[in-house]
Amino acid sequence: MSEKTILSGLSQNEIEKITDELKMSKFRARQIHNWIYLKSVSSIDEMTDLALSAREELKKVADITNIKIHTKQTSSDGTIKYLLEFEDGERVETVLMRFDNRANLTACVSSQVGCAVNCSFCATGKRGFIRNLTYKEIVEQVLAIQRDTGLKVTNVVFMGQGEPLLNLENVLKAMEILNNDFQIGQRRLTVSTSGIIPSIYELADLDMQSTLAISLHASNHATRLKLMKIEDKYDMTELHKALKHYIAKTNRRITIEYLLIKDLNDTLESAKELVHYLSDIKCNINLIPYNPTEKNDYEKPSRNSVMRFKSLLEQSGKKVTVRLERGSDIDAACGQLKGRVEGD
Ligand code: SAH
Ligand code: SF4
Repeated sequence: MSEKTILSGLSQNEIEKITDELKMSKFRARQIHNWIYLKSVSSIDEMTDLALSAREELKKVADITNIKIHTKQTSSDGTIKYLLEFEDGERVETVLMRFDNRANLTACVSSQVGCAVNCSFCATGKRGFIRNLTYKEIVEQVLAIQRDTGLKVTNVVFMGQGEPLLNLENVLKAMEILNNDFQIGQRRLTVSTSGIIPSIYELADLDMQSTLAISLHASNHATRLKLMKIEDKYDMTELHKALKHYIAKTNRRITIEYLLIKDLNDTLESAKELVHYLSDIKCNINLIPYNPTEKNDYEKPSRNSVMRFKSLLEQSGKKVTVRLERGSDIDAACGQLKGRVEGD
């Protein structure tokens, strides 16, 4: 364990405590804060507007980070997948997605090592739950991307490994830092959940502008139970009540994520049932064609059936998008994150 204070994840006030100790002015704290979050330097030596002596003093007591990039893979579509290693040796994946002709740089961050929810289609769940990430480990993922690419992340989605609403305290604190310190607007933050109902009620009370995305994936109880055993604990009927409450309280439109699996939930009947379930829910729908992972029998739907499903839903007047598949050649697409390298 390093004895030094890690600067990444510290607020302006926390940095001021260090600069006070070193008898530096508050203005120095502001400069250090900018170097960390906005200019994303990898070393204290790069903080060139601090006097050399100040940098030397700071280096005695502080480090930028204690996480390592274990592996980095770049997809043919420009998506970058990082396997990051924390101090205790645990690893998670973080993905940077760029979308053509848009200035957006979206970081897909993990909130836990492994996941207890264990959905049948997802590679992350296969490992079981290992531990929660701290809020610092969550924001470090965004900083690792910024340091490595020299670019500023503009959007963050909590869609990597783990169930963010089972680590709510750290996720909320990380969102606060992303908003205040990275200056990423709340509307550019999205939290995706398998539907942890008590946490949805908690979120409803917080009056945030960020987007809540719900992994629904089925149009009836039996099908959802097959895909997501969490349906046994938090079923679609209760989820529906929670979502209505959330929307009424926040006045925000939510996103419904629907995984499309060939012949399982991509039928005409499923589309009709889904339209009915969502009829009084203010939402956009995001269809996610299933990405193959090892050890299950599910198949990707054909392009035609995705388009047919999309147009059936559109008849209800809702906005429907099909999620672009990013980085599948490097196993960085949705559901393919395992937190390991081959042979580990
Ligand atoms: N635990 C949260 C967030 C992480 S998963 C959740 O489940 O919502 C992010 C999204 O990827 C979820 O909608 C999830 O259901 C989806 N996903 C998981 N496995 C997938 C797969 N094999 N193919 C496509 N999407 C998948
Ligand atoms: Fe966990 Fe989400 Fe994967 Fe389900 S889909 S196992 S909730 S990470």
